[in-house]
Amino acid sequence: MKVSLIIPCYNEEGNVLPLYEAVRDAFEGAVPDYEFVFVNDGSTDGTAAALAELVRTAECPVKAVRFSRNYGKESAILAGLSEASGDCFTIMDGDLQQIPSVVVEMIRYLEEHPDCDCVTAFQEARNESPVMVFFKDHFYKIINRVSDTEFVNGASDFRTFRKNVRDAVLQLPETNRFSKGIFSWVGFSTHYIPYTAEERLSGTTKWSFGKLWAYALSGIISFTTVPLRLPLFLGAGTLAAACGAAVLQRGEKRKTLPAVLAVGSLQLFGIGVLGEYIARVYQETKQRPVYLIKEILDNQK
Ligand code: UDP
Ligand code: MG
Repeated sequence: MKVSLIIPCYNEEGNVLPLYEAVRDAFEGAVPDYEFVFVNDGSTDGTAAALAELVRTAECPVKAVRFSRNYGKESAILAGLSEASGDCFTIMDGDLQQIPSVVVEMIRYLEEHPDCDCVTAFQEARNESPVMVFFKDHFYKIINRVSDTEFVNGASDFRTFRKNVRDAVLQLPETNRFSKGIFSWVGFSTHYIPYTAEERLSGTTKWSFGKLWAYALSGIISFTTVPLRLPLFLGAGTLAAACGAAVLQRGEKRKTLPAVLAVGSLQLFGIGVLGEYIARVYQETKQRPVYLIKEILDNQK
C-alpha cells in the first residue's frame, strides 16, 4: 500500500527538513512505500527554497506544489489530494505538532481492518489556552446541534484514509471548503484514535482568533441552513410579545423605544444572517478555482 503524505506549508522554512527526517525515521522498517506531497501555500519566508533543496537531495519521492499566493490550508489540502498518487493518504501539518509514529499507527490500523476507510486522530486534551478551549468546545456543541453532519470535538485534519475517501472528497466542488465537515459528510467508516499535539518545532501558528472565528462561521454556514430559519422563529416570538404587550398596556402611555430598538436589531440580525449566505452563494456561482499553481517540483520526474 503506497502512502501519500500531504503536508500543507505556510511559512514553515525551519520545519520542512526536520519533518522529512522525522517521517523517514519513523517509517523505517514499518512503511516501505510512501511519497511526500508538500504544498507551499504562498509562503513568504524560505519555504520554497527549503522545499526545492529537499526535492534535489531527498532519497524518498518528494513532490513540492507551489501556489501562486496564500489560499489557505483548506486549498492546500485539496491540491495535495489532487496531486498525490498513493493508495492511501495522510494529511498532516508541516510543523511537527503531529508526530509521525501516530501515522504509522494509523496505517497499521487500516492494514489490519480492511473494512475501515479512514483513521482520524483526535486530541483528548487540548494543549491550548482556556479561552480557545472554551470557544472550540462551544463551536462543536453549536454545530452539532444545528447540522445533520456530525462533527467530532477535537478531531483534526490529521487523518489517514483510503482512495475511496479521497475520490469522494475530490468530487465535492465547493469553493468554501471546511474539511472537518467534508470528511464527515462523505461518510465511510472512520476509526478515531487519540493523540497529543506536540509543541510547534519552529515558527508560529497561522491562526489568529479572528481567522478562527471566520473559519468557524464558514463551517456553520457550509453545513447547515438552520440560521436562515432563525429570523422566522425570532419574528414569531417578538410578534407574540408585541401582541401580549398591546393587550396588557391598553390605554397606557408607555415608552416603546426599547421595544422598537429590540425589534430593529432583530431585523438587522436576520438580514445579516441572510447576507452571510448570499455572499457564499455569490462566491460559489463565480466558480473560481480554489487555488492556482505556480510550479510543481518532483524528484521522480
Ligand atoms: N497552513 C497553510 N496555509 C495557511 C495557514 C496554515 O498551509 O494559510 C498550514 C501550516 O503551515 C501548518 C498547518 O496548516 O502546516 C496548520 O497550521 P498552524 O500550525 O498554523 O495551525 P495550528 O496548529 O496552530 O492550529
Ligand atoms: Mg500547528
